[in-house]
Amino acid sequence: MKTEIETIAGETPGIAYELIVHRLSGSDTSAPRVYIQAALHADERPGVAALHYLIPMLEKAEAEGRLLGSLTIVPHANPIGAAQHMYGEHMGRFATGTRVNFNRDFPVPDENGVRTLDQTSSATFAERRLKSRLLDLADECPIVLDLHCDDEGVQYIYAPERLWPEMADLAACLDCEAALLWNAGSDRAFEEAAYEQMVATAKNGDLSGHCVTTVELRGQNDVDPVLAVKDAEGIFRFLQGRGVVAPDARPAPELRKDFVGKPIRHVDMVLAPVGGTILFHAAPGDRVAAGQLVAEIIVNPGRDNGTVAVHAPQAGFVLTRRIRRFIRMGDNLLKIIGDEAAVASRKGALED
Ligand SMILES: [Zn+2]
Repeated sequence: MKTEIETIAGETPGIAYELIVHRLSGSDTSAPRVYIQAALHADERPGVAALHYLIPMLEKAEAEGRLLGSLTIVPHANPIGAAQHMYGEHMGRFATGTRVNFNRDFPVPDENGVRTLDQTSSATFAERRLKSRLLDLADECPIVLDLHCDDEGVQYIYAPERLWPEMADLAACLDCEAALLWNAGSDRAFEEAAYEQMVATAKNGDLSGHCVTTVELRGQNDVDPVLAVKDAEGIFRFLQGRGVVAPDARPAPELRKDFVGKPIRHVDMVLAPVGGTILFHAAPGDRVAAGQLVAEIIVNPGRDNGTVAVHAPQAGFVLTRRIRRFIRMGDNLLKIIGDEAAVASRKGALED
């Protein structure tokens, strides 16, 4: 494995960021190339922990001649966001200088299929140059994994509908409980931008063997050695199944029996009807019935009618819930994958 430390200049004198890029060389040039990054939202750490165990596994495979495809791995994809602390709190989702989400507004091909990336010397904000560089590193890789996590959540992935069910192998290897399928992005997340570039450059429009995804490795606090090893092994087995690493005698994992794979329009974004303190009555992974109590919000402690009840809008599967127990009116309380479509159509991301 070779490691390069790239420099991203800050916007003012004396400021610079380091981007660590690992490259592993496979022995078979016809095997798929892979790009993996973690912590693009810099406060989401389960992917970093998984890579801590995956990278040595891949290095060993490389040393033993079992690595067929080449990989590029960026374990800290967002050094700009990693450095953002304000009054002791880390803020890794939005760039504080521009208020733009670090996983939005990536450059995508225009109607002619031509994409323009910022260069390292472009006179624009560091985060824009970083976004272009990350896409550049992922180019010509048919397998692109962007490792994120939710607030509190089950293991799940986003997948372009066109690549489903082929990508179910990833969901099975990661022991995912759900997949959200999308076909009309509009917010230009990294996954969407990488996918659009794949579509624009695919030979004869053929996307077979491609995989591009935002992997939600459960919740923000699900960072521990047991889960990280499990996720590393899951990604490793997925890479074996895709011919990036030589296979072994183990049978390919299968999807869980209770797996939920639905178009993204099935997601009910349950919003807080009032602000206050949350008492949850449902957890990620639960099946809920229509009208079931899923949370109460305390607005007037210890008084009659001191809470406001929140009920499931329809029968479904609780995907995520808010990690903090204090909420504003209108904030997202839970995401539930409804058995029926929650909205007629949905473009773009579920959240800002
Ligand atoms: Zn994220």
